[in-house]
Amino acid sequence: MTDYSFEIFPPKEEAELDKTFRVLDRLDALKPSLISVTYGAGGSSAGKTLELVKYIKNSLHCDALAHMTCVGYKKETLLEMLSELESIGCKRILALRGDRPKWMSDEAFHGMEFSHASDMIAFIKEHSSLQIAAACYPEKHPEAESAEEDLAHLKEKVDAGASLLITQMFFDNDIFYRFTEQLKQHGIHARIDAGIMPITSAKQLGTSVSLSGSSIPKALSDLIARYGEDPEDMRKAGIDFAARQIQDLMDHGADGVHIYSMNRSRSMEDLIHAIFPGN
Ligand code: FAD
Repeated sequence: MTDYSFEIFPPKEEAELDKTFRVLDRLDALKPSLISVTYGAGGSSAGKTLELVKYIKNSLHCDALAHMTCVGYKKETLLEMLSELESIGCKRILALRGDRPKWMSDEAFHGMEFSHASDMIAFIKEHSSLQIAAACYPEKHPEAESAEEDLAHLKEKVDAGASLLITQMFFDNDIFYRFTEQLKQHGIHARIDAGIMPITSAKQLGTSVSLSGSSIPKALSDLIARYGEDPEDMRKAGIDFAARQIQDLMDHGADGVHIYSMNRSRSMEDLIHAIFPGN
């Protein structure tokens, strides 16, 4: 059976942590298998990831998945973080390279202790017993020269120890189905969770979606053209689009669905209730 998980990001300000705990309470009530917490993405405060992971482990019912990036970690600090995660009973970690922050020089970016996610994965495998997750890109990573090259690097991540792959967001399920076939053909064997981002405002396209490089199918751009000016109608139409995407993935027996919640608990409640009316 396909299970579902959520992703949240830490707030920028310390004062907003309490608000994020309340978002987590509401997401947990929707009975996800786990909630993942991003690391430093979009300028969010990196130090808050562990605090939120601790809250999930200590106060909620679902599992936690901590994101870590090569940009944010050196070997020494990563070792400390690994033992901290294990000491609070965390079982999984998502190892990423991370995007280069605007302030980071060429020299610093190319001199990182871990150049690629696969380097960090091999290090985590050697120094902990955590289950390791990695990112994958059904429409290829924007920096990769070709899909073939990207798949070869993805295989390196799985060979280094990643057993769970979470996809970049996509809006056309056929892209995902083709991608899972390609993984099989390339001998990449891991659990694959489909990354779904409900588009609840037209503004999201200009921010998160354009950064991801994911393509927008006509059905979604038509929907934005029709409802984009009305925030509540757009929210409902975006949730309906995502619910149909998720239902189709479940019907096709996807391993799991990872929902980019954007910390929007009300929309996540509407989404899960649309898919499972009794939940
Ligand atoms: P890698 O796997 O290292 O790949 C990056 C690029 O390098 C690709 O083009 C790949 O083909 C290439 N490459 C890989 N290995 C090699 C090699 N050995 N030689 C040459 N080229 C190579 N970012 C954050 O900052 N914080 C987060 O919390 C976060 N969470 C994310 C969660 C998910 C599910 C996803 C899909 C992305 C997330 N990101 C996050 C964004 C991610 O950090 C960026 O997409 C980043 O640009 C690539 O990270 P990666 O781990 O996929 O990198």
